[in-house]
Amino acid sequence: MNTQALPCIPLLINGELVASRSTEWRDVVNPATQEKLARVPMATAGEVEAAVAAARTAFTTWRKVPIGQRARIFLKYQQLIRDNIKSLATTLSAEQGKTLADAEGDVFRGLEVVEHAANIGSLQMGERAHNVAVGVDTYTLLQPLGVCAGITPFNFPAMIPLWMFPMAIACGNTFVLKPSEQDPMVTMRLVELALEAGIPPGVLNVVHGGEAVVNALCDHADIKAISFVGSTRVGTHVYERATLAGKRVQCMMGAKNHAIVLADAHKEQTLNALVGSAFGAAGQRCMAVSVAVLVGAARQWVPELVAKAKLLSVGAGNSAGTDVGPVISCSAKERVEALIARGVEDGATLALDGRLPPLDGRLKEGNFIGPTIFTGVKPGMAVYDQEIFGPVLCVTEAESLDDAIALINANPNGNGTAIFTQSGAAARKFEDEIDVGQVGINVPIPVPVPLFSFTGSRASKLGDLGPYGKQVILFYTQTKTVTARWFDDDSVAGAVNTTISLR
Ligand code: NAD
Repeated sequence: MNTQALPCIPLLINGELVASRSTEWRDVVNPATQEKLARVPMATAGEVEAAVAAARTAFTTWRKVPIGQRARIFLKYQQLIRDNIKSLATTLSAEQGKTLADAEGDVFRGLEVVEHAANIGSLQMGERAHNVAVGVDTYTLLQPLGVCAGITPFNFPAMIPLWMFPMAIACGNTFVLKPSEQDPMVTMRLVELALEAGIPPGVLNVVHGGEAVVNALCDHADIKAISFVGSTRVGTHVYERATLAGKRVQCMMGAKNHAIVLADAHKEQTLNALVGSAFGAAGQRCMAVSVAVLVGAARQWVPELVAKAKLLSVGAGNSAGTDVGPVISCSAKERVEALIARGVEDGATLALDGRLPPLDGRLKEGNFIGPTIFTGVKPGMAVYDQEIFGPVLCVTEAESLDDAIALINANPNGNGTAIFTQSGAAARKFEDEIDVGQVGINVPIPVPVPLFSFTGSRASKLGDLGPYGKQVILFYTQTKTVTARWFDDDSVAGAVNTTISLR
């Protein structure tokens, strides 16, 4: 297709979808076929400035909008997303590669956060203590911060933007979103639906771009808080740069998620869970199981694990029956293939090699890698030490539950982990002793629903408060404590008191 004829993704500034004046653009590409779908601009410095200025102006009125009115916008928004979920999933699958069913799941997990935002009335409540001294009450107000910004990754282009702007805006902030430049189309469709739901001009703005735009957001004096989700390298940079500029920052970053398998686990359910988690979304989930730690007699389950993985069908996300779609880009495919080669060089056993899966026609050009399994993996090997972010499962072994826990606790990452067992005592020991922020018990991808917060830990996170749940209300608001004394009209004036006591 002629590049000039491709649709150009607009920016959103002050309620208007506007064409960027940038001279720098990149293509949005279907990773299954390399078909070009659209062009996305790298916004200019002036466009970033205009988006932040619109958000700053809108904040002066939006912060005073009553909480019920804010909540009703999100009630309408969740219905609009629900009504459009199929077409949103189709767009998402075309630009990101995941299967249609999984793309619908991506939208749905974001929709749940919008439902949570609609509940803002009972979330953004302060505390009150009556009579803390004679006639004195103390109470807290959770007030919006101002302009907040969000920077999102390619792997959940619906869910992760929806982790951010609905909660920030529901709290009374205004927002500038910087979606992934690799798959911004579904994000923009969600943004259009947000406008349709009644988000006023300037309250939500979108700029596209890469490093330069992200740095401009980190440095901008009018932005009070930044939410980032993406790789550890970029997240660490964003955290350092934006905190140095005085902002509140939360960064959810890379992972290496281990699942311990004890021999008393339900074998069939466990193997299905491992295979689904490791290879679903082509392994491009930050909470995917990427290391299986087989303990004791469970070490004998490898042939059945490999047999199940072999049954998965590799293909385009929009084809019926596909289990594993492509990885996001040619460079991601090259990186994963190079790591597989490194695994062999480092001495791990390639029990299942997914490189060069058999595909026909246009799909031959796609970024496909089939399920890949290494056994005999040890710390110090590149496939263990690095986040692969592709359909590669590393299998390692431990003599005992204690050894397996020690292995996981020695790994720097803390995003997610799981145990498969039928022993309540073993599960309880695991949840108590494991140093990872999100724990599954017979659940391979333990991402909390929005009643709770996303609580990755250690090297997988910078900043104290996580996305959604109750924690994000504290992230997107300033707690103000008011101590108030009211006198009865006929009370005695008393004398000057030069001591600190309120009594
Ligand atoms: P990425 O870090 O490459 O990109 C994330 C965002 O940062 C994008 O918007 C991108 O445009 C921007 N960016 C890229 N390079 C930059 C640079 N040099 N300077 C400033 N900004 C830059 O991440 P990705 O490849 O899009 O996503 C995959 C990563 O995200 C994986 O590491 C995965 O584990 C992680 N992730 C983590 C979570 C979590 O909750 N912990 C969730 C999803 C994804």
